[in-house]
Amino acid sequence: MTPVTQKLYTDDVSLLMVLLDTNPFFWSTSKSTSLSFSNFLSHVLAFLNSVLLLNQFNQVVVIATGFNTCDYVYDSSSSPTNQRAETLLRKFEEFVVKDEQLSKEDSVHGIGNSLLSGSLSMALCYIQRVFRSGSLHPQPRILCLHGSPDGPGQYVAVMNAIFSAQRLMVPIDSCVLGVQHSAFLQQASYITGGVYLKPQQLDGLFQYLSTVFGTDLHSRRFLQLPKPVGVDFRASCFCHKNTIDMGYICSVCLSIFCKHHKKCSTCGSVFGQAQTNAPSTSNQKRKTADT
Ligand SMILES: [Zn+2]
Ligand SMILES: [Zn+2]
Repeated sequence: MTPVTQKLYTDDVSLLMVLLDTNPFFWSTSKSTSLSFSNFLSHVLAFLNSVLLLNQFNQVVVIATGFNTCDYVYDSSSSPTNQRAETLLRKFEEFVVKDEQLSKEDSVHGIGNSLLSGSLSMALCYIQRVFRSGSLHPQPRILCLHGSPDGPGQYVAVMNAIFSAQRLMVPIDSCVLGVQHSAFLQQASYITGGVYLKPQQLDGLFQYLSTVFGTDLHSRRFLQLPKPVGVDFRASCFCHKNTIDMGYICSVCLSIFCKHHKKCSTCGSVFGQAQTNAPSTSNQKRKTADT
């Protein structure tokens, strides 16, 4: 027999993990986005309120993605409803101050990257805890509100997070606020079955958030949501963290390198020499690989 409480959790109850990019270098440059940080926050606050109003069992967790660190800043399950905005804004301020204090360098080349891999991992840890809490839990999804450019140094960590999300069947939605597309987030949404969107008019951000990203997983089956126009599948090499079009791949562990190496730095497999067509060399190559 189904317990009565089970009926309260229909398939459209959502756990929304929102990752907010707080990179100060991104928000302080008017060239990178047409939206100010305070405007951005007011759009997001209205959106979070509307998600919580849609269903009394909906839950929202906000994670700040900083330049040096990331942290949970808001959890609707543990904060009183009447102080929602105050709690979130106060925690946000504390986070931004802490993130700034951790800065070791005074000047950063360009606008830098924020720690997307870190906040994705934190979101997945939270979701994992929810999954283990029992059979009665809301449907989780992750929404990345991201503006900073991709950090090629985070490539492996981000891809690992994406594959974990895919395994957990948690979609990663992406809303890109910067001028450039994000290859990381294109891949994240494509692989996990989430929605990727780069809004044309950031003044209407709330509109995009509520009509596209406010939809729960159950309703998505009946809606026409934005389809990806193209996905940048390029990878970063493990040796220099450069984004490459073509490269060498270790046949054992699938690590990617931009040039030929004697040995795989990840799994230690010995590669033989660079390609030549002479048969004697290929024998020798096989020998090297065997030992
Ligand atoms: Zn390289
Ligand atoms: Zn390898």
